[in-house]
Amino acid sequence: MDLNCYITESTIDGADEGPLAGVTVAVKDNISTEGVRTTCGSEMLDDYVPPYDATVVEQLTAAGATIPGKTNMDEFGMGTTTETSAFGPTENPAAPGHVPGGSSGGSAAAVAAGEADMALGTDTGGSIRCPAAFCGVVGIKPTYGLVSRYGLVAYANSLEQIGPIAPTVEEAAQLLEVVAGPDERDATTRDARDHGGNYDFAAAADGDVSDMTIGVPTELVEDADEAVLDRFHESLDELEAQGATITEVELPSVEHAVQAYYVIAMSEASSNLARFDGVRYGTSGGYDGNWNETFARAREAGFGEEVKRRILLGTYALSAGYHDKYYKKAQDARAWVKQDFDSAFESVDVLASPTMPVPPFELGESLSDPLKMYLADANTTPVNLANLPAISVPAGETADGLPVGLQLVGPAFGEQTIIRAASALE
Ligand code: GLN
Repeated sequence: MDLNCYITESTIDGADEGPLAGVTVAVKDNISTEGVRTTCGSEMLDDYVPPYDATVVEQLTAAGATIPGKTNMDEFGMGTTTETSAFGPTENPAAPGHVPGGSSGGSAAAVAAGEADMALGTDTGGSIRCPAAFCGVVGIKPTYGLVSRYGLVAYANSLEQIGPIAPTVEEAAQLLEVVAGPDERDATTRDARDHGGNYDFAAAADGDVSDMTIGVPTELVEDADEAVLDRFHESLDELEAQGATITEVELPSVEHAVQAYYVIAMSEASSNLARFDGVRYGTSGGYDGNWNETFARAREAGFGEEVKRRILLGTYALSAGYHDKYYKKAQDARAWVKQDFDSAFESVDVLASPTMPVPPFELGESLSDPLKMYLADANTTPVNLANLPAISVPAGETADGLPVGLQLVGPAFGEQTIIRAASALE
């Protein structure tokens, strides 16, 4: 069965030796690969072939990995189901007839189906953790600045990070070790060692939660589906049985997180996507003496509906007169979310919640209702607003056999702690 995990299947060979020798790592199609087309799931970039590799791609091949292809994704990362791709939807191998989640749905499906050993995705508001949860695999959204974004085609640059998707916590941690580290070509990267962290991620997957305090934010639990909550509470019981202390915490600001996230993400997108005008990047609109018309034709033909909706809303939120009303308010909410997480981490080591409040949607179910899709990001978006690391680890299945994911959030550069806690559930 063809799940449509890949937009382009084209092998990029790695070095003969290295920590990932003999391992295949699929790469999301918004990460630049020299000589291999990089479409971002968009008609606009249907025939775009980057002249250089992203830093993470250089790191993968230097570590010996083989890249089997570029994975399917929601157009420019805008979606939660991989259905906004111009190259058709991907099917969930763990739940036939259902979406694989998004936007890194091709990456998670490829790993779940064994079409790649591991994969890279990107996470702006949940796009690694959501598909990992829906496909029953592990995904890590790193602390902002841990992994270089050089060569990643930007959607909302203040929120997004590249991160690993793998069958187990240890493998995901191993892949994170390869791509983490400061990069002089991305000024937003930071050295974990300057911030109380280090890069020994795989060794942290030792399952030892005996000294750990795990906080459960009531706000991220109360609205979840019952079938999801059952699995969530079972996982907490298991962690408690292994010696962890479970305690309730409050994050009152997160009820505004989805709204703040979408205003900020759409505002940044409206600016980042301005370069796709058919002249600088993208398929030409055909010049006929009027540049405005030429650009408009290129963007009308090249972008899908969801991308156009977001560019329009983002431009509106940034326009004179509305900037203070929407964009500035969203930034204030972002600061408040950050503060709430900071105070929570004064009393707990990690925070736990369901990754997604719902099990995977059926194919086609959510496309006509963008708001429903946005609200499914309630538990993942606060983490991006606060620039924190988080992992999604499988927490069993619903009675209908649909995968459920557990999310663990850590303090900045606290990757080891979330890896340790997640590995206790395997
Ligand atoms: N679903 C969110 C969005 O559509 C997250 C996407 C992402 O993380 N790239 O914006």
